[in-house]
Amino acid sequence: MAQTTQVTRQNRTLTVDFQDPSTYFELINDGKAFVEFVFACILSLGFQLAHKTTCTGGGCLTRHSHYARVRLGGLTIWRIQCTACQAVFTVLPHFALRYRRMSPDVARQALIATHGGLSLAWCATICPISPMALYRLICALGQHSLVTVLVKCHLSLPTYILADEKHGRCLTDRVYLPTIVSGRVIWHLGYSDAKSAAAFTASYGQFHQVALDHEPSYQVKGALTDGFDSTVSSMRTLFPGARLGFCLRHALHKLPDKLVGVPVLVRRGLRSTFHALLHRCRQRTSLRVVALGQRLRHFAHRIDTVVGEAHGERVRHWFATKKAGWYAVLADPKMPAMSTVLDQAHNAMDRKLFAMKGFHHPGGSQAAFLTGLAHLYNLIPYQRRALNAGTCGVEVEGGVLPTSDWLLNLQILTSGGYRCAPAPPNH
Ligand SMILES: [Zn+2]
Repeated sequence: MAQTTQVTRQNRTLTVDFQDPSTYFELINDGKAFVEFVFACILSLGFQLAHKTTCTGGGCLTRHSHYARVRLGGLTIWRIQCTACQAVFTVLPHFALRYRRMSPDVARQALIATHGGLSLAWCATICPISPMALYRLICALGQHSLVTVLVKCHLSLPTYILADEKHGRCLTDRVYLPTIVSGRVIWHLGYSDAKSAAAFTASYGQFHQVALDHEPSYQVKGALTDGFDSTVSSMRTLFPGARLGFCLRHALHKLPDKLVGVPVLVRRGLRSTFHALLHRCRQRTSLRVVALGQRLRHFAHRIDTVVGEAHGERVRHWFATKKAGWYAVLADPKMPAMSTVLDQAHNAMDRKLFAMKGFHHPGGSQAAFLTGLAHLYNLIPYQRRALNAGTCGVEVEGGVLPTSDWLLNLQILTSGGYRCAPAPPNH
């Protein structure tokens, strides 16, 4: 992929829903009616057009705008130019994919199969496309940042986040996928070949920068991690004012490691005591931090008497390094306590990353591919039997979608010509 030679020209393609192809072919003959139809669509979505930053034309086209018909791959399309800033918008009907011969129906099936965990090669076997065409389609979707797409769904930037990295492999090298999740939505899925704090800060920093571009006053109030050093320190660097909590479920999983050599049954008993302890502290409505401190001390004392002071000491030392993170979880009722939804997102990515193995090459666009997969995760509705059947992650989190068709939503939301209306000041 010739990424280095790519010219940085802003993509101002607008995918517009004409409901039916025949509507499009009627309108295409009448420039004025066409432009009016396009305005009505943009207005109904609550979007604005992405004019050049220098534009003084009020951010909207007028019927005096220049427009011209061009032929693109056998299809007649309109280009509309803003008379003030000269930005050119290409209007693409919903039944065509940008730069692709693939029809949306074929793309729909191939993407849903990928999302379901089928390898790119298998998707290509059941759909009439090559694995490389599917890979490129996902990468093209991934050119649009998750933040940009999610704010177009009227979701506000997350004030409480879950951050964790997924460990994976690229051929023989270890790679890491720094991830930010809030509820059912992935806000960041990065790609890094190092696990240093600097590498993670760079990756999470991409999310932070796009978020700041959208809302300069954006601040994270709380972040939950599993306590991995590089993640913790990158959160501290990027979001200095945020509470940093450690996942309580993760703590529960780690306890048995601190009791090596203790009979399984005893260990299991202590784990369930620890579970009850954390649960009771979360149930309290006041003095949660004080209660946790007290109960941790009692629990360590209990370990002294049940399995010996050496174990008690080890557990006490572990508590000392982690308790600040647990206190942070309990100190703010809005803080997420467990990273379950993040683990679910990582599990969902697992099978797709396996599919990615065949496409690792130096010029590959892993970051774009991953972002493309994350868009699918956010926008494809859950299956029939799932908890939130029929709705997608964005909707579960209170977002608003342009249409009831997930692929059309993906086409519209990853259109480069739209901008969401800027957030009101002091918001
Ligand atoms: Zn303009």
